[in-house]
Amino acid sequence: MSTYGIDLGTTYSCIARLDSNGNPEVIRNNEDDSNMVASVVFFENENNVVVGQAAKENIETDGDRVVQFVKREIGKRDMRTYTFDGKTYTPVEISALILTRLKNLVESQGNEIEDVVITVPAYFGLEERSATKQAGELAGLHVLSLINEPTAAALSYCARQFQEDRTILVYDLGGGTFDVTVVKMSMTRNEAGKDVQKINVLATGGDDRLGGKDWDDKLFDHILHACCDENGLTPEDIEAETRQDIRSKVEEAKRKLSKKQSAKVRIDVNGSRTEITIKRSDFEAMTSDKVAQTMNFVDSTLQKVPDVEIDTVLLVGGSTYMPMIQNAVEAKFPGKVQQHDPDQAVAKGAAIYASMLVVEESGDTPSADETSSDENPAEKPVSHTEQLTAKFTVEDQTPRSFGPGVMDTKGAKHQYVLENFIKIGEKMPAVFTKTYYPLEDNQERVRLRAFENMSLEDTLIPCVDEDGNPQATDPANNVKLLGELVVNLPPETPRDTPIKVTFKVDASGVHVEAVNTRTNEIFETFLRTESDIDVDNSAVHQLRISAD
Ligand code: ADP
Ligand code: MG
Repeated sequence: MSTYGIDLGTTYSCIARLDSNGNPEVIRNNEDDSNMVASVVFFENENNVVVGQAAKENIETDGDRVVQFVKREIGKRDMRTYTFDGKTYTPVEISALILTRLKNLVESQGNEIEDVVITVPAYFGLEERSATKQAGELAGLHVLSLINEPTAAALSYCARQFQEDRTILVYDLGGGTFDVTVVKMSMTRNEAGKDVQKINVLATGGDDRLGGKDWDDKLFDHILHACCDENGLTPEDIEAETRQDIRSKVEEAKRKLSKKQSAKVRIDVNGSRTEITIKRSDFEAMTSDKVAQTMNFVDSTLQKVPDVEIDTVLLVGGSTYMPMIQNAVEAKFPGKVQQHDPDQAVAKGAAIYASMLVVEESGDTPSADETSSDENPAEKPVSHTEQLTAKFTVEDQTPRSFGPGVMDTKGAKHQYVLENFIKIGEKMPAVFTKTYYPLEDNQERVRLRAFENMSLEDTLIPCVDEDGNPQATDPANNVKLLGELVVNLPPETPRDTPIKVTFKVDASGVHVEAVNTRTNEIFETFLRTESDIDVDNSAVHQLRISAD
């Protein structure tokens, strides 16, 4: 099968597919002797761009030609760009280089790759999602769908041990980000009367600046200072090559400490060889505040769903190989912690999902019955994945809340408010319609703004600055302007003219429609990343909430 799942990670990426028995397997990166490809790009010169471990080896010596952590930039409105040898790259283009490397990995092993599912963090908004999809297309891949990383991890967990009705806390500590997600798996009956397993995201939390890199940095400082002490030097005396040497060895030492009680590193300090031994207990002591930080995020995420009981905690992300993490999580959730291939689970879940989508498309359902009618059923046992595929649907949910900005004229003072039509976590496609009215008689037009946000409130009060950027009262709501729809009104339109506004959200974006019910004229627009935002800030061109 030419269907693959891709975990496009902040620090490491991974690609997986289902083997001939229907079990997920990761495609090996033989060049780096790893299951991963480092999400690092080195622009060596105009003819040579290197992706992966070899790129990582230039961070200290040639840092200004290395791009890493690009996932943090993708889909941001004021997206930064990178220029090398006269050519400018957007984060989408850099991500496409990483995806191309993954694609080449498959092709170099003589396999075809066509359809893919790419994973994204559960908290990604529409723009980040759309930009990720674009990166896939730019790499020449057909992106069947995106899937939330914790959902993919939960899927690969279910493929191992199928369980009904579970609430899972996914603790994902990667290289540069920490994500906590509470997902609920439940059996429901779909419209066709078939029992299906549904995965819903109930709450998300975490920090996109907390990850394995913080552990690396602590270890780097520790080794640097130890090198200085051994040689009677100060950190300023240490040359860039020596720093790169330490940097290259830090991660390896950290990985060793996950297995052993101590690790040795040998560093050439400005020409003289120095051996440093690090004890696991010392490493744990110097990073204990980071562990505590992750546990605080677990607590704050659980507070968002106070009535929920956690059945299972899944450890995901390469950094959960560290015993200090396993111990801290186990102490909080005794007997509930599960960890299986933490650095591959997301890619494997994406591969399972990709094959589910292909099966769905072709109408070919590999069910348990079908396989047991095989002449020799003992030879080909039904894999968990196959059972899962037959039973499972991942319900696409809205990653954000969406709604228009309108004037509330009820109080003494007119207030520009955001009315959330569709809330985070609703089943997609989600549709909502509401009737508004022009602010004034003879109003020439309405500029109907569409917003995305993280709030579950019905109404928010955004204050829009002179650039059209909404300043939410609470920054945690993360209000973003998606764009606007201009509704022209014919001359002499009275202010009691009902204007019916509809928002429809599906995986590809937000469709906004306004109908002038007096003339039946329809105005519509489709908003996604590329939408040019051209916003008129004069307060007059608005709709008001209630009729007089
Ligand atoms: P991403 O952040 O891209 O999602 P991963 O989930 O693959 O990436 O996590 C990468 C992080 O995991 C890196 O910081 C890496 O050093 C760390 N890591 C991988 N294996 C180990 C290990 N055995 N012990 C400790 N840390 C590890
Ligand atoms: Mg990850």
